[in-house]
Amino acid sequence: MTTPASAFIGGQTYLNYINGEWSASVTGNTAASINPAQRSEVVGYVQSSSQEDLNNAVAAAKAAQKGWRKLSGAARGDFLYKAANALERRLDEVAETMTREMGKTLPEAKGETARGIAILRYYAGEGMRKIGDVIPSSDAEALMFTTRVPLGVVGVIAPWNFPVAIPIWKMAPALIYGNAVVLKPAQETAVTAAKIVECFAEAGLPAGVLNFVTGSGSVIGQGLAEHPDVNGITFTGSNAVGKRVGQAALARGAKYQLEMGGKNPILIAADADLDLAVEATISGGIRSTGQKCTATSRVLVESSVYEAFREKLVAKMQGLKVGHGLEAGTWLGPCANENQLETVLSYIQKGKEEGAELLFGGSRPEDPALAEGFYVQPTVFDKVTPQMAIAREEIFGPVLALIPVDSMEQAIELANDSEYGLSASIFTQNIGNILSFIQDMDAGLVRINSETAGVELQAPFGGMKQSSSHSREQGQAAIEFFTSIKTVFLKA
Ligand code: NAP
Ligand code: MG
Repeated sequence: MTTPASAFIGGQTYLNYINGEWSASVTGNTAASINPAQRSEVVGYVQSSSQEDLNNAVAAAKAAQKGWRKLSGAARGDFLYKAANALERRLDEVAETMTREMGKTLPEAKGETARGIAILRYYAGEGMRKIGDVIPSSDAEALMFTTRVPLGVVGVIAPWNFPVAIPIWKMAPALIYGNAVVLKPAQETAVTAAKIVECFAEAGLPAGVLNFVTGSGSVIGQGLAEHPDVNGITFTGSNAVGKRVGQAALARGAKYQLEMGGKNPILIAADADLDLAVEATISGGIRSTGQKCTATSRVLVESSVYEAFREKLVAKMQGLKVGHGLEAGTWLGPCANENQLETVLSYIQKGKEEGAELLFGGSRPEDPALAEGFYVQPTVFDKVTPQMAIAREEIFGPVLALIPVDSMEQAIELANDSEYGLSASIFTQNIGNILSFIQDMDAGLVRINSETAGVELQAPFGGMKQSSSHSREQGQAAIEFFTSIKTVFLKA
């Protein structure tokens, strides 16, 4: 019998899940996952696994995939429905764990967990939808059609910023199309990930179909990317790591999918509803402490309304409460880890040095109650020029760069002057502006009169340029990565 990882909650140690069993790493080592709001609080201990643990997980996945792929899509879907129900029963507990482990506010954590449940149900349904097309053959007596086959074993490497939604939006399509999975979560949020895996275990998923190995990125993540028996690798995280993962996969001919950084712009035209634009800028840029890949970072405002916009923005920023994500009324929690805090502070310093004007925030909060957490004030820079580092590099924190522009044409040009192209938004009522934006903006997600963040699980998601490997996740687009097309030519 398997013992659920949470049975160890007394000791707060969470185990790997390999071949249907919860097991400790062969290393005997664990690592603490701490609460970024209160660094002395340990949320749980997770396994510091080695290549040997990973090899066991991949071997289990490889063996289990043979039977899993033979099930009907509907039968595989049943397991996903059951996992969704298990997660729904534990929604509050999982969301609270997420808040404690990475700091986002409880309402956001609950929203994300609810999204994870919806994603599971969406892909459960996909098990009964079409997977091919009939194509007229030039031979009148033949039938030609396409079908889809799974890749085999899929490695999932996930970041800490959406600890429930991202692993699920990768694992659910991988599983429904007949792949077996090895999940390597971010070590920062491995306790939350263990609880998701428990839900799959509770659903009765056959042993080996889903395996879970925690450990450092350089050992388990890199190990997955290089493993000869891992046929596909889906990664979300930073550009530097993503490129290494992609190169390792490419070197051995494995399929790979990378979703990486962003430097997402919001464009505000002279005719925009400024109150709505301010709300969207703050919500898109500051919620989740700016740690969304789709977070607003550059704010390009037409000069005739620049001052009015800036005034309204600063007035609204004053009302944002920084604090513990579990406390009611908190608007933004801490950065997810100390490294992230240091990065944000260093960019703030860089912004000052480069001559941007600090308009709001810019340091750690003074409240002594927040001293033990990785908190930073929401921050706005004024008079940012497009060459400054804070206008070019991904900060991944609650920092907005205001950039005045002369026209919307110039706004789109500057918005496109970035190595990234994940999401972008425009506020305007002018149909000409809107059409130019839709046509000319180089981003995988363009949003009109709505914030840059915001992803719907039934629609394709992914970036252009350096933001992605140009594949798309979520919705029906997910089938492209998690399967191969087989063209069938059939003649009696
Ligand atoms: P990260 O440092 O790149 O880590 C992502 C994952 O890769 C983690 O599981 C990490 O493990 C693992 N990893 C680290 N080194 C590795 C290596 N050498 N080989 C293989 N895997 C390795 O990114 P993060 O700091 O967690 O997340 C923030 C970044 O993710 C931002 O750049 C953000 O824009 C991006 N992001 C993008 C999207 C999107 O859809 N485009 C969504 C969310 C986040 P450990 O952490 O355990 O070491
Ligand atoms: Mg943590």
